[in-house]
Amino acid sequence: MLWYNILVLIHAYLFLLSGRFMESSADLVIVGAGAAGIGMGLMLQALGVDRFVILDRGDIGESFRRWPAETSFITPSFYSNPFGLPDLNAVSPSSSPAITSRTEHLNGQAYADYLALLASKHELPVITQCSVEGVQRLPGDGFELTTSQGSGTTKLLIWATGEFQFPDLLPFPGAQLCRHYAQVRSWKESACSDQIVIGGYESGIDAAINLIRMGCRVKLLVRKPNWDQPTPEDPSLSLSPFSRERMDKAMRSGRLELHFGADVTDVSKMMEWHRVRSSDGRVWLSENAPILGTGFLSGGGARQIEECFDWAENGKPILTEHDESSKTPGLFMLGPQVQHEQRIYCFIYKFRQRFPVVALKVLNRLGLPVPDNLDKTWALFDPPAEGCCSDECDC
Ligand SMILES: Cc1cc2nc3c(=O)[nH]c(=O)nc-3n(C[C@H](O)[C@H](O)[C@H](O)COP(=O)(O)OP(=O)(O)OC[C@H]3O[C@@H](n4cnc5c(N)ncnc54)[C@H](O)[C@@H]3O)c2cc1C
Repeated sequence: MLWYNILVLIHAYLFLLSGRFMESSADLVIVGAGAAGIGMGLMLQALGVDRFVILDRGDIGESFRRWPAETSFITPSFYSNPFGLPDLNAVSPSSSPAITSRTEHLNGQAYADYLALLASKHELPVITQCSVEGVQRLPGDGFELTTSQGSGTTKLLIWATGEFQFPDLLPFPGAQLCRHYAQVRSWKESACSDQIVIGGYESGIDAAINLIRMGCRVKLLVRKPNWDQPTPEDPSLSLSPFSRERMDKAMRSGRLELHFGADVTDVSKMMEWHRVRSSDGRVWLSENAPILGTGFLSGGGARQIEECFDWAENGKPILTEHDESSKTPGLFMLGPQVQHEQRIYCFIYKFRQRFPVVALKVLNRLGLPVPDNLDKTWALFDPPAEGCCSDECDC
């Protein structure tokens, strides 16, 4: 074990010596030091993969650091690990954001600090401020990566670039007159008069709740409420209890108006007014730029290397059952854009289930031994054999 640790350290040192990726070669590169990249890195390190590196164009947990300051996790953190149920937001079975932050609903900064703490404690080979700008498949096997810190080669590549940094800024004509949720650093920046928020799912509701807290009056334009019907097959298809509870409180302020059936077609400017129109002819006016809580680019960060994937009609990259690109062998995807039929892995407690699936293939490809207990690492999160979930709920 000591020798293994020394080898890992030497390897990390060589990569990190100048803080540059230039002219290096690795067995595996993980692009993205978010929840997916750090969690996967920890698992691979524990499994004996040593010649790997994690690259991020920002800092560790960069997306979480960019969340609006007032935004917090909707999934609660609780240290239940000793009883076989790791914290819902943990990316390693032995850690708990609830313990590191002493908070149940962490904000983005606290979660990024949790990821950075794990990376530092386990001496993960992470290079920050290193943006991957091009991926070239090499003849035979492997990839050449062009980065902001030079180029390097790798046998295998894991693309874990998330979606938060890839907002859909033009969901309808005139949307450039609006401000996307992902462009807001703090709701304190917002003028506290009338505000329009477009989108009735988690980010739209979070925007509305925070604007109400700042003293604004908010019109929330919602196509169809997704909070009245339980969705037993997948809790993330309906509004979380955390958001529901906060929304009820915001309603009691008397300053939140819900407008249902609002299928926004365009936004335009009339003198000082922003004019929001919906398909049924209704119009809403506001002096302030409407807030877009309308989501992210379908495929998120995978759009950066679009040519390396086949794309499904729903805009998701097509992956094998081991989350490898159907088009580019050796390229794996991790994170919220992974989807297999109806199963979407959009939350941390979901996509961490894919770590052992990808790890198994990585070990096989690198000719490393597969330990008997590999599948047990996140076994508690494996869906039951007969299918993801029952469509019955006693709730
Ligand atoms: C407001 C909000 C609230 C949420 N609440 C919850 C919640 O309560 N619970 C939950 O489980 N999930 C929640 N989610 C979803 C969760 O945040 C994401 O699923 C998660 O962040 C995805 O992790 P990731 O590692 O795939 O992506 P990210 O955390 O986005 O990490 C991707 C990383 O890749 C880097 N990167 C991108 N492109 C490149 C490149 N070309 N070169 C180098 N680096 C690159 C980025 O800098 C970034 O650090 C929430 C999301 C939002 C937006």
